Amino acid sequence: MKEAQLTRKILESLEEMEIIDCHEHLPPEAVRVSRKVDVFTLFSHYTRGDLARAGMSEKDINSLTDREIPLEKRWRIFEPFWERIRWTSYARAALLAAKKFYGVDDITVHTYQKLSERMQAANKPGLYEKVLRQNCRIKTVLTQCGSTHTGSGWLKPVMPMTYSMENPEDLLQPPFAPGCSCCTLDDYLKACHDYVIRVKKEGAVGLKLLCQPFGQPDRKGAASVFKKIISGKRKEVDQTGRWPTYTLAHELTSYVTDQLVTLAGKEKLVVAVHTGYWGDFRRLDPLHLIPLLQRHGEVRFDIYHCGYPWVRETLMLGKGFSNVWLNFCWTHIISQKFATDALKEAIELLPVNKVLAFGGDYRDPVEKVYGHLVMAREDVARVLAGSILAGRMNLEQALEVARQWFFNNPVSLYRLNFPEK
Ligand SMILES: [Zn+2]
Repeated sequence: MKEAQLTRKILESLEEMEIIDCHEHLPPEAVRVSRKVDVFTLFSHYTRGDLARAGMSEKDINSLTDREIPLEKRWRIFEPFWERIRWTSYARAALLAAKKFYGVDDITVHTYQKLSERMQAANKPGLYEKVLRQNCRIKTVLTQCGSTHTGSGWLKPVMPMTYSMENPEDLLQPPFAPGCSCCTLDDYLKACHDYVIRVKKEGAVGLKLLCQPFGQPDRKGAASVFKKIISGKRKEVDQTGRWPTYTLAHELTSYVTDQLVTLAGKEKLVVAVHTGYWGDFRRLDPLHLIPLLQRHGEVRFDIYHCGYPWVRETLMLGKGFSNVWLNFCWTHIISQKFATDALKEAIELLPVNKVLAFGGDYRDPVEKVYGHLVMAREDVARVLAGSILAGRMNLEQALEVARQWFFNNPVSLYRLNFPEK
């Protein structure tokens, strides 16, 4: 069978498969349907970055979602920049969503009004069910919306592990422990502990961490930084000259994180880690995680985004550490080429139970989860077709790999209590 034909055949099977969506920022549906929506809802997330890089000013980007401004005027501002970004993977997810749910083949001056009207008409209770369950066949979504109240049993919360520790008020009245006031490092640790126990009780299945340089945990150093920060002597802490790679609260963050990773392990919560790509991504080098992975062999780490652009380094974390799983959330809309190459390498490099194939990573534009999933399926189908044609596996074995990546692995990593497929 020719490669294109085989890829098509695999895709058809993938479209029938149930999916665990391994990472979103979706708020409860009630939040989304209470907002006015239009074509620019589809451009309210990652594509903002592409528009900025294409030369659009921040003021103009913000004006796109200002519904006080007539839609026609916003379209005129947007159109020249849309032509510059329409070939990016971020944009493709918007085009796929617009076609699937609102019947427009392209987003143009001729379709944006019709698209906006149809989006608003569909923006009502049942939207998540229609998009995520009926059209994506998603069984459950792991979502990070800053709350355990997700509005639905099949939206499972993942909560932040640590919060900012840079300012006095971050420590004295931690935002995750309303009504609590902390005067010492021990008070702060107790508040963190109580927070983790509470969110787990409320249904959280994991705690999210931002990758950063982690030092050896040092209680004395952490207590000293804690005192300096609450007394407003931040400048003293800043004598290190390590900014921006290290934060001002480096010793404190390292110690608190280490304590919380231990607690996550005890409470059987997965530690999900953002690695790579975002802002000044020098801080987010996945290799910073190695000391934590070494000290916490019993804790399960779900490493996000393949550490883009440190892809090989991240794959190597999966190769080198038994407590690492690699989560391809967000990757297919960063670049399908990169995601396909990484999956191709992952097949040869990693046990089949260590890859999680999909997470949309969206907030407001839930429709784009579908667009992203189409792209993820394409990437997985291409990689599996290649393995079949290379004589490494047969079709049945390839589909079994896909079932593990899309469903069984996240179920088992996050202990989701569904029967495996
Ligand atoms: Zn995310």
